Formats: sequence, structure tokens, C-alpha cells
Amino acid sequence: MHDLLSSFGLSSSGDHLVRSPIDGSEIGRVRFDGPAEIERKIAASAEAFKAWRDVPAPKRGELVRLFGEELRANKDALGRLVTVENGKILQEGLGEVQEMIDICDFAVGLSRQLYGLTIASERPGHRMMETWHPAGPVAVISAFNFPVAVWSWNAALALVCGDSVIWKPSKKVPLAALATQVLFERAAARFGGAPAALSQVALCTRAAGELLTRDGRIPVVSATGSTAMGKQIGPIVAARFGRSILELGGNNAMIVCPSAKLELAERAILFAAVGTAGQRCTSLRRLFVHDAVHDELLTRLKALYSKLVIGDPLTKGTLVGPLIDRAAFETMERALAEARKDGGMVSGGGRVLEKVHPEAWYARPAIVEMTKQTAIVREETFAPILYVMRWRDFDAVLAEHNAVPQGLSSCIFTRDLQEAEKFLAVSGSDCGIANVNIGPSGAEIGGAFGGEKETGGGRESGSDCWKAYMRRQTATVNFSDALPLAQGIEFGV
Ligand code: NAD
Repeated sequence: MHDLLSSFGLSSSGDHLVRSPIDGSEIGRVRFDGPAEIERKIAASAEAFKAWRDVPAPKRGELVRLFGEELRANKDALGRLVTVENGKILQEGLGEVQEMIDICDFAVGLSRQLYGLTIASERPGHRMMETWHPAGPVAVISAFNFPVAVWSWNAALALVCGDSVIWKPSKKVPLAALATQVLFERAAARFGGAPAALSQVALCTRAAGELLTRDGRIPVVSATGSTAMGKQIGPIVAARFGRSILELGGNNAMIVCPSAKLELAERAILFAAVGTAGQRCTSLRRLFVHDAVHDELLTRLKALYSKLVIGDPLTKGTLVGPLIDRAAFETMERALAEARKDGGMVSGGGRVLEKVHPEAWYARPAIVEMTKQTAIVREETFAPILYVMRWRDFDAVLAEHNAVPQGLSSCIFTRDLQEAEKFLAVSGSDCGIANVNIGPSGAEIGGAFGGEKETGGGRESGSDCWKAYMRRQTATVNFSDALPLAQGIEFGV
């Protein structure tokens, strides 16, 4: 670990201890910012913004291109650090860095495409247009489960849009954030002339982090985490008329229809339900299987679950790493107990490897057969629990699918065109992401990512999400010798 940190030039100092969920060992120490340092960082960010907004957007893209190069050159080290600090398997740690590289590529292209509109004016000799200007400093608050990728979705776009960035990572994964900052600073040094404090990291407690949400100098707050966090932050930002991009909890489902190709469905289920030890916002939590294929699919799934390799996420072949901490394990156990009370039949669950790693929290992924969608099923439990329910009527299962407070990701496995189209239609899935014959997790960066209802309504990453990091200006130019008023209004003395 020492070598890994020193490859980023990071030393370990400070009073906040960082432990690896792999074995509970100390992997570093960091120093937290207090309110005065947060204030200094906000002021510095506001200064950096003033300089950066005047740099032409394609030139801003060049900095992001260089940052992408640093990420490519250090993909292995950063991916490994993500795995050690967060516990996701190495393939997923590397995948997370690849997502960062992909969004940098996307943002570089975008830096030449921040298009406005020219709009037909109703007045003769007038031209009306819409221009997008940088918004200002952007605060990015990120969750433990994607220690670096989600920040990059925000930062790569914000930077080409002309904004400065302050990043408050989860206190559970600060080292990956510091390493990312080192790579950014290397890119900035090669770029030459980027303002100091263009992108900063603020390691701090929630209370200090809240200062970022309250400060009027920060027009955009992008926050990823639990719905409980969004319920705190959303009103604070709204009260000062700031803009928030909220990416909150999910309770994602799959509907399996009689015509589904079960070999594909079972692979998608496995990746989505047990990948990242069930700690993705898009993890599959609810599985609705048609009566005709229910027993067969369940038998196949149980066979697959029995072969899962649970253990060290750095070891090749491991599919399930540890949960982030003891609290996560206890929440999982509580949810399973609740489901049992509701009549659920639980296969799996429970702690494993406690003798080898008494300070780490490895859990066996669980399948829970439910007769109906009870209160615990409607909650997001951030752990590898898959609730399985049987269905017979398509309209009824669609209604059940949507009958949860969250609305992030969803999918259907079918080869019936009508079912697929109904799922994607206005009366179908109410989620921000709806897939056909693909699982709910593992989105590409090209699309807009996010969801509805208690997921917060924010969108990040591809498509036209960049608009959230800019302010829109409508400008009308009169090049005639008259002053006609809109709507033909006559007004004069
Ligand atoms: P969390 O809500 O505990 O913390 C997320 C971040 O918010 C952390 O950095 C935390 O310090 C900060 N925070 C919390 N309250 C705050 C406040 N009042 N002011 C300022 N900052 C505050 O979430 P977590 O346990 O780290 O992550 C898991 C959750 O994140 C799950 O619910 C998951 O679904 C969600 N998530 C959502 C997405 C998405 O894109 N929709 C992506 C990843 C994770």
C-alpha cells in the first residue's frame, strides 16, 4: 500500500484513519479541512472561476484531454487503489477508471460543441440567440461506492464548461480522491496557465461539507449519495435558489417474461445483483419472474450463487468483495430478518471469512423469495439482497415494478416486441434508465445518467447533461433603424 500511495506522491499524515474493507487494516491517514479551510477553498474556487471562464472552451478541453492521458497512464494504480480502499473487485476498480477516461474523451469532444441556438425573431431586423455561459464554481459531493468515477462525470463536463470544481468525497474513500487530484495537478502542470485552485479536494465531515451547499458563491451542487442525504441538501440549495443535481438511492428491478432468453437473463442478474457486493446505486434488488419460467430461473440462479467466489477483491476469480463496513453488514442482516418476518424464504446471507478477517465484513449474497412486495422490499438496502417475486399479469407486474419510492434503473428480459415497447412507453417503467435485454447496472457514459422520484431527478454524464453546468442567456440584437416591440405593442408619447 505504501508503494501505491507513493506512486502518486502521497504521504500518510493526519488524524483521520483510513482502513481497507478487505481486511480492516490501516492504509493511510488524512487530514480533514475545518470550516475556515472550506471557506478559503470556496474563495479560491471563485477566483479560479473568474480566470477559467475566459479561456476558450476548446482550450479548456485540452486540459481535460491531458487529464485523460494521466488517467490512461495510471489506470492500473488508481484502479488498484479504488479496490483497496473501497473493496470492489479489481475488474470493477479498473472499470471505474475507464469510465473516467471515457468521460474525459466525451468532454474533450464536447468542448467544441457547446452549441447555442439562433432563433427566428418576430421583429424585422432583429436576431435572437441563445448562448451558454459557464455557471461558476461547482461543488461535487460523492458517495463511497464510486470513489472517483462519479466525480469525473461532473468534473470533466464542468471544466470544459468553464467552471471551477470543489470535490467533497466520502470520508470512507479519501485516498482515491487525493490520488485523482495528483493526476489532475500533473495534467494542469503540463497544460500550463490553468488557474490555481481550478479543481480542489475538500476532505471534511458532513457538517463542514454542508458549508458548500449553503454558500451563494457556488451556483451548482452535484450530490451523489443516499436519499436521506438528498433530503437534507436539496432544500438547503433550493432555499438560496442554487441548482442541485441530485443522484440518490435506487431500488432497481428486472421483469423476466416467458419468452426471455434465460442464459442472458441469468448473467445479467448475477452481475447486477452481486457485482460490487450489491453496493451500486443501480444494483438489481427486485426480480419479477413470470410463473412459466420462475422455478427454472430460480434453480439456475441458486446454482450460480452457490459457486460465487467471495473474498479478496484483488485476487483473480473473486466475484464478491467485502461490504464497506460493519454497519453495511448489520443493515443487510436487519433487512433479511425483516423479510423473513414478512414470509420471505432466504437463501444465503450471513457473514463469511470472519475467522480470516475479523475486522472485515464479507457477506454471502442472498436470494429472498417473496410472495409480495412488502415494506422492506420497497426500501433500498445497500447490500447483495435479491428479492424474487412471481408474476402472471403484465399490467399488474408493471404497476408493482413502479410501486417503490425510487426511480433509478429498470429492465425487462423479453423477446416479445409488445412487452418491450410497453415497458419503454409512457405508461411503462417510471425510471430514468430503462433497458431491454440488458441488466440495470453498468451504464455507458454517453447517455444521461440518473433517475426520478426519490432518486432525485438529476442527470449526469452524457447526452445534454452539460447544460446543468452552464447558465443560459437569451440575447436579441436589433440591427434595424426602428424599435418595434414584441407582440406588436404600441407604446409611445
Ligand atoms: P451518503 O448519503 O451516506 O453519503 C454520500 C455523500 O454525501 C458523502 O460524501 C457524505 O459525506 C455526504 N453528505 C451526507 N450528508 C451531507 C450533508 N448534509 N451535507 C453535505 N454532504 C453530506 O451515501 P453513501 O453511503 O456514501 O453512498 C451510498 C448511497 O449513494 C446509496 O443510497 C446509493 O444508491 C447512492 N448512490 C447513488 C448514485 C446515483 O447516481 N443515483 C450513485 C452512487 C451512489
